[in-house]
Amino acid sequence: MEKILISACLLGEKCTYKGGDNKASYVEELNQYFDLVPFCPEVEGGLPTPRAPSEIRGSSVYREDGTDVTKAFNLGAYKATSICSFLGIRLAIMKENSPSCGVHKVHNGYFNDVLVSGEGMTTRALKKIGVQVLNEEEGLAMLEELKKQNAIKDEKTERAKEAEAAKAAPKEEPKEERPHFKPRPIRPYQGKTRPFGKKEGFSGKRNYGEKRDEEGDEKKPRFHGDKPFEGKGNFKGKGKPFAKGAKNRGKPRGRLKPDKD
Ligand code: SF4
Repeated sequence: MEKILISACLLGEKCTYKGGDNKASYVEELNQYFDLVPFCPEVEGGLPTPRAPSEIRGSSVYREDGTDVTKAFNLGAYKATSICSFLGIRLAIMKENSPSCGVHKVHNGYFNDVLVSGEGMTTRALKKIGVQVLNEEEGLAMLEELKKQNAIKDEKTERAKEAEAAKAAPKEEPKEERPHFKPRPIRPYQGKTRPFGKKEGFSGKRNYGEKRDEEGDEKKPRFHGDKPFEGKGNFKGKGKPFAKGAKNRGKPRGRLKPDKD
């Protein structure tokens, strides 16, 4: 895991000039992404805790009573750069406004609570050796960005796992769902003839008259001339009322006799 240097007071160490800390609630979450290396340049420079406040004026650092403490501040800065070089640290999160750790702003050097643009002694030294230095607010923004990127990465990993599991799982045949379909029941054939094939006693020809005869039905005459004429009129002859053959068709057979009174 990558190491980063962090102001010890941000991690909760009681090393400020008042003997307190500047603990930032989010720094513990940074542990998930980095190995945190706490460092207090003023303590490492040999200054006691608590101590009199100091401010940068020009290229030196003074206490309110005018005491020059530049040497201790330079020593702290030197130790910070040595640690970063030794551990290969390329990123630091430092406490804003401090004469050692300030990143963008420091007090103006006159002890009147006025902040000016500038950087602390240690921050300046770290930047000189190429270490990227963030203040506590920028550190928080970095953490939020890391969390966002991690969430995206986790989601992608989860999707990849699901896709792999789906590939590995045996494929189920899709069931044909036809809830509207109800097959009709198959009824046995009840016709008089078989629709196909032959069976004993069945000729296979469509001769329904003969079939009926075999069963004892009365055979129906095929021509009207086969039975005696029973029509009206004065014809008294026997047999057919009209002669057979094309030549005599329409002529009465036999002789017409006048009716007797
Ligand atoms: Fe915190 Fe830096 Fe001041 Fe030490 S020197 S107390 S680490 S701001």
